[in-house]
Amino acid sequence: MKKMKLVMVGNGMAGVRTIEELVKIAPDLYDISVFGAEPHPNYNRILLSPVLAGEQTVNDIILNPLSWYAEHHIRLYLNRKVVQIDRQRRVVVADDGPGLAEDQLEAVFDPFVRVETSRSRETGGAGLGLTIARALAEKDGARLWLRNRVEGGLEAVVQWPASAQVTPPGRAG
Ligand SMILES: Cc1cc2nc3c(=O)[nH]c(=O)nc-3n(C[C@H](O)[C@H](O)[C@H](O)COP(=O)(O)OP(=O)(O)OC[C@H]3O[C@@H](n4cnc5c(N)ncnc54)[C@H](O)[C@@H]3O)c2cc1C
Repeated sequence: MKKMKLVMVGNGMAGVRTIEELVKIAPDLYDISVFGAEPHPNYNRILLSPVLAGEQTVNDIILNPLSWYAEHHIRLYLNRKVVQIDRQRRVVVADDGPGLAEDQLEAVFDPFVRVETSRSRETGGAGLGLTIARALAEKDGARLWLRNRVEGGLEAVVQWPASAQVTPPGRAG
C-alpha cells in the first residue's frame, strides 16, 4: 500500500508525542516529514529553565534523538522554518538560503545549468532537476517558477490553473 504523506510543522513536544503514537499503532500508514525551526531534535521544553540557567545542556533534555527519527524513517528538517503552507494543494515551502540572482531565476530551469559550480559532478547533480520538475508540472497543467523572498531565501511556486491570482515573473499569460 502506498503510504500517505504526513508533514508536521514544528518539532515540538506535543507534536512528536503524537507521531510516537502514530508510528506505534500504524507504522506503515504514513511517510512522515517533520520541519523544525530549531537546530535540535525534540527536547523536553519543560526542562528548558535549567538549560537556560546553565545547569544542564540541551543534550541532557533530548527526548527523541536523531536515531529515533532515522529508526522510524522520519525525514527531519532542522533549522527549517516553514514560511508558507498551502493545505489545499499540499505544498509546503521552507528555505532560508541565500536565494538566487534575479537573472538566474529562469536560467536554472534550462537543462544542465548548475549554479553551484564548486561541487563535484558526483555530489552536485546534473542540473536537470528543475527542468524535469517544470516539465512534470506543466504536464499536469501547473506552472512552476522561482522567486526570491523579501525576507530572504528562495520560494518555489507551483500553481495549478484554479489559482490564477499570481503571475509568474517573465512568463507571459
Ligand atoms: C519553561 C517551560 C516550562 C513548562 N512547563 C510545563 C509544565 O510543567 N507542564 C506542562 O504541561 N507544560 C509545560 N510547558 C508547556 C509545554 O512545554 C508545551 O505545552 C508543549 O511543549 C507544547 O508542545 P507543542 O508540540 O505544541 O509545541 P512546542 O513544544 O512549543 O514546539 C513547537 C516547535 O515548533 C517549532 N516551530 C514553530 N513554528 C515553526 C515553523 N513555522 N516552522 C518550523 N518549526 C516551527 C518551534 O521552534 C518549536 O520547536 C512549559 C513550557 C516552558 C517553555
